Amino acid sequence: MKFKFAYIFCLILLFSCKPKKAVVTEVVDLPQNEISRVQENSKETLEKPFVILISLDGFRYDYAERYGATNLLNFDVKADKMISSFPTKTFPNHYAIVSGLYPGNNGLVSNSFYIPTLKEHYKIRDRGAVRNKEYYKGTPLWVLASEQEMVTASMFWVGSEAPIKDTHPTYYFNYNGRVTNEQRVNQTVEWLKLPEKKRPHFITLYFSLTDDVGHRFGPNSAEIEKAVKLIDATIGDLISKTDKLDLPINIVVVSDHGMKEVDIDNIIYFEDVIPKNVIYSDSFPLMVYSDDTKMIDSLYTNFKKDSLRVNVYKKANMPKHYHYKVDDDSVGDLIVMPKAPYTFGKRSYTFSKGNSTHGYDPTTTEEMGAIFYATGPAFKKNQQIDAFENVHVYPLISEILELDYSHLKIDGKKEVLESIIKK
Ligand code: AMP
Ligand code: ZN
Ligand code: ZN
Repeated sequence: MKFKFAYIFCLILLFSCKPKKAVVTEVVDLPQNEISRVQENSKETLEKPFVILISLDGFRYDYAERYGATNLLNFDVKADKMISSFPTKTFPNHYAIVSGLYPGNNGLVSNSFYIPTLKEHYKIRDRGAVRNKEYYKGTPLWVLASEQEMVTASMFWVGSEAPIKDTHPTYYFNYNGRVTNEQRVNQTVEWLKLPEKKRPHFITLYFSLTDDVGHRFGPNSAEIEKAVKLIDATIGDLISKTDKLDLPINIVVVSDHGMKEVDIDNIIYFEDVIPKNVIYSDSFPLMVYSDDTKMIDSLYTNFKKDSLRVNVYKKANMPKHYHYKVDDDSVGDLIVMPKAPYTFGKRSYTFSKGNSTHGYDPTTTEEMGAIFYATGPAFKKNQQIDAFENVHVYPLISEILELDYSHLKIDGKKEVLESIIKK
């Protein structure tokens, strides 16, 4: 009898301790789009190596060591961290990595922003905006490759759905978070099995799991440990499948930013101070758009009083390291940045313990640090390198794929990472 009770008690305990509903992914059919300019590799491209660029959204710089991501830790090149660009948000940074331009120069100044001249908001969940090429500046890697007759593919990446310079990756999908990670890996492997003329030499691959779990449970949770191990196993699976293909494949794994637990007892309810009918974007940073200098002055004074929790700037006095341009209409007239661990909230939204975020200034918030791991025949072995900014990935990948980018004005510098490439 005693035993039975103990047994039932254990069962109850087991079920009540089960982690809350994990991120659900299900198998879905994806319509594949093929409307890029280049459909076949040139003769020169056939001789070139391959690069798979992988993003693990929100994978903080210290996760691999801390949670034992053994596959990543086995890579040839490891950076102490990769420095995310300002603001440390998903869209500006994914596009910084593939354009070699800081968000202030690549068009995506934040996850959401407003363009007064167009009277339009860019928002990451607005499919029309995300697919509008007018928002994206520069020449993403797949466009550069396409211009030089190289077939490319994207298993999701910010910008791939927009016909930037009238060019998509040769193969790409509309973003769908429900596609399983296994499907993403298998699709990548299938592309690499195509006949050589149709086989993409540059592929992007994106996983959101560590960001989803990080926001909800935080960087110190058992849930994130599990997510890190799971995504590391996914990388291991990709490596074992691509190893069998016997192709010169290089894998570069990056993340867009880190993650930081927020102070849920001191939420900044910014809407309490912004007058009605004023246009703003509530991403990090909070940006207010208005010609009414009196109103901007008064908001500035108001936020300045809260200098424990925020930094506030008028457009003319933004910090240089934001890389925002004063003549850029998409940058607000007032810019308010929370200081970690404080965050913005709305009265209608309730936070719970462990909730975490990103977007903070990468120069003052260590936890915004991202990752860089690289492996494959193009790289020297056993390289531990210093922290560097993510815009330098563009020249690195261009060099490996022998793509000429000398005509482009980019922020990334070849010198920063050239020492990791085998001569
Ligand atoms: P955030 O944490 O708000 O900066 O954004 C992360 C979210 O961006 C992810 O959970 C995805 O839902 C979304 N996302 C990432 N890549 C794409 C994409 N290519 N298109 C649309 N949404 C995306
Ligand atoms: Zn992200
Ligand atoms: Zn996020």
